[in-house]
Amino acid sequence: MTVAAASLTRLSRAGVAFAISGNGFSIARAAALTAAPSFPVGPVSASKTPSSFHGVYARSFSASASRCAPDSFPGSSSPIVGAGPRQPLPSQFFFSRRPGSIAAKTSPVAAAIRSASTQSDKPAGSSEPAAAPRPRRPVFAFLSRALAWIGGSFVFIGLAIVGFFVYDSTTYKEGAEMEEIAVSNLALDPRRGGPKNLPIYDVQIDDADCEERLRTKDKPKLVILGGGWGSVAVLKELNPDDYHVTVISPTNYFLFTPMLPSATVGTLELKSLVEPIRRIIKRVNGHFLRARAEDVDFSYKLVEVSQVDHTGKETRFYVPYDKLVVSVGSVTNPHGVKGLENCCFLKDIHDARKIRNLVVQNLELACLPTTPDVERRRLLSFVVSGGGPTGVEFAAELYDMLNEDLSKHYPRLLRNEISVHLVQSRSHILNTYDETVSRYAEDRFARDQVDVLTNSRVNEVRPDRIIFTQMCDGKPVTKELPMGLCLWSTGVSQPEFCQRLAAKLGVAQTNRHALETDTHLRLNGAPLGDVYAIGDCSTVQNNVADHIVGFVRNLAWKHGKDPETLEIHFSDWRRIAAEVKKKFPQAVAHLRRLDKLFHEFDKDHSGTLDFGELRELLKQIDSKLTSLPATAQRAHQQGQYLGRKLNKMARAAAGLHANDIQDGDLDAAVYKAFEYHHLGSLAYIGNSAVFELGSFSVSGGLWAVYAWRSVYFAQSVSMRTRILLMMDWFKRGLFGRDLVSY
Ligand SMILES: Cc1cc2nc3c(=O)[nH]c(=O)nc-3n(C[C@H](O)[C@H](O)[C@H](O)COP(=O)(O)OP(=O)(O)OC[C@H]3O[C@@H](n4cnc5c(N)ncnc54)[C@H](O)[C@@H]3O)c2cc1C
Repeated sequence: MTVAAASLTRLSRAGVAFAISGNGFSIARAAALTAAPSFPVGPVSASKTPSSFHGVYARSFSASASRCAPDSFPGSSSPIVGAGPRQPLPSQFFFSRRPGSIAAKTSPVAAAIRSASTQSDKPAGSSEPAAAPRPRRPVFAFLSRALAWIGGSFVFIGLAIVGFFVYDSTTYKEGAEMEEIAVSNLALDPRRGGPKNLPIYDVQIDDADCEERLRTKDKPKLVILGGGWGSVAVLKELNPDDYHVTVISPTNYFLFTPMLPSATVGTLELKSLVEPIRRIIKRVNGHFLRARAEDVDFSYKLVEVSQVDHTGKETRFYVPYDKLVVSVGSVTNPHGVKGLENCCFLKDIHDARKIRNLVVQNLELACLPTTPDVERRRLLSFVVSGGGPTGVEFAAELYDMLNEDLSKHYPRLLRNEISVHLVQSRSHILNTYDETVSRYAEDRFARDQVDVLTNSRVNEVRPDRIIFTQMCDGKPVTKELPMGLCLWSTGVSQPEFCQRLAAKLGVAQTNRHALETDTHLRLNGAPLGDVYAIGDCSTVQNNVADHIVGFVRNLAWKHGKDPETLEIHFSDWRRIAAEVKKKFPQAVAHLRRLDKLFHEFDKDHSGTLDFGELRELLKQIDSKLTSLPATAQRAHQQGQYLGRKLNKMARAAAGLHANDIQDGDLDAAVYKAFEYHHLGSLAYIGNSAVFELGSFSVSGGLWAVYAWRSVYFAQSVSMRTRILLMMDWFKRGLFGRDLVSY
């Protein structure tokens, strides 16, 4: 490539730049007229020359000739113009004309060119010696270099394409690879058992497929439920040979949810947002079962799984585990509103496809001459219920598509009749963000004529309209909006599977919205260290007060003291605070000024805290600990944490086994408690984006959109999806969005 670039540099210097430079004009002229007998001006093709390289070279000269010769040289009186009949040039001629070569410098033609270049600047018939050629101007030098680079790039791309085809040809296989494969009888004909006497899938059909799989066959069984953000983070962190890994999920792909709103209007293609789970688990030689977890039997350590079999009937079986990770995500919160079957949701790829089809279908219906005006306005009325990031991003994407692509391909009347409404129950959209961010988003939407209806609650969704109540001057007013599409995006709630587990675990699970875990992400109520829950389906219980009070009480009894009469000095309080920080890392931020807290809660100013005062102090810390957000960021951090911890536990297993240690708080012994670090939030709002990074927030136009894209590009799960994302963004820029439904 370097050689090619260098050749092209020389070529352009000698040919292209000279053809346009002051001095070089005469060179071009001379060369053109010299070359004219052998190459007719115009479509001189490389095939007529002995080599394509020379073809290019000759072409540049001929092209100069076609432009320059008639104007500059009306006659053929130039001293260097070859008069006489047209003769084909001998083949050595081409080889001797390689630009920059010694031969080129010494050949008769080159001499003629040099002579022409000097003579053309002299008055005709002058006998003065030729002046030295003027140095080339920097602009031409720059141009020649630029052209050389462009040429070099073309050569590089050409080579890359050829290289790709060579590689591609090696990826096809002739004939099938058939060989003996060892499959255990237990895999083909599983034993039955468990509380429901179902088949137990102890051995998988691909356990003996290859060396790598054989290595993990007898390792502890790690079963992961779900193939989303939490699970994939665990899989990416795990050491390959430590566990026999099985992922169970009804979808066989990971979905990059933050960009899902872009797929609803064709900015991005659906396939650019998904990565096959089997590709992800390959790193850990894992197994995948496309099925749905229905229940868990904690005492038998079995997950009950369902799947529709080849006959179309639901079939159930058990998958045994040593360690179970529950990361099944969440479902949309219906908030008890009637008529949600008339809404679209945006949770997975099918939802995005459905929305895309419906948007395009409504646009097409609105174009029909038989569609009455009122109906057209209804079809083109898009309502989003929920002013969180998902609702806002969908409204923004929809607006962008209508604004940028609709007018190009649809009747202009449609643009005037379209309306986008965003219904939000709170007083601001993006209300979990900083106030300046939500104001920026509101101003942007006001400018773009996206109708933001705050303090409004949807009561009912009918097939053709939504009915909602808006607070106007402190009074509720019932209103309705005709709609052609309503997106319901109003928060998340617990899937049925998690509700079933919570009910089974009884008093250990008190949260109605998610499965409660301790700070080591172990499911509360399940046998210690067997089951973990991460991501949207879980919440970390921060019962600092109960936990520490119990701890101090036990300590007091152990030292033969009655906890109720205990007097806690500042030095004791420091030790207690250290314990709180270790067990509840999220509380660290609230335990910065220990002295201040101590004095504040020492109500009787005795210089010590009694048991009641300590309890009050810890309760105040409890109240400050908010539950972690249901975001990809949190699921990812929890997955990473769990993956690292499982690696540590696998490494520690031999030592624990040797010392016959099987029970107790092994998690706490090998690894710290989970601590969430909020890295910031971002949202897209119609050709602009907002970022919230701690106490600092930024919003901006296209530069922010590029930054927003860069963040997600970097976070994307694989190189494959990154390349697809980039191609989609290019495609949108070059050809617009695909407004098709299928
Ligand atoms: C449109 C949209 C935009 C979002 N944008 C952002 C954003 O910009 N930033 C951000 O941080 N977060 C965002 N989120 C939230 C983020 O996607 C979730 O917080 C994250 O996906 C939670 O990860 P998870 O692993 O808990 O669950 P998920 O990623 O939802 O994965 C759940 C998995 O469990 C599987 N599953 C479900 N039921 C069962 C079952 N019974 N048995 C076995 N498997 C089951 C599912 O098929 C899926 O594979 C967005 C969400 C949506 C829907």
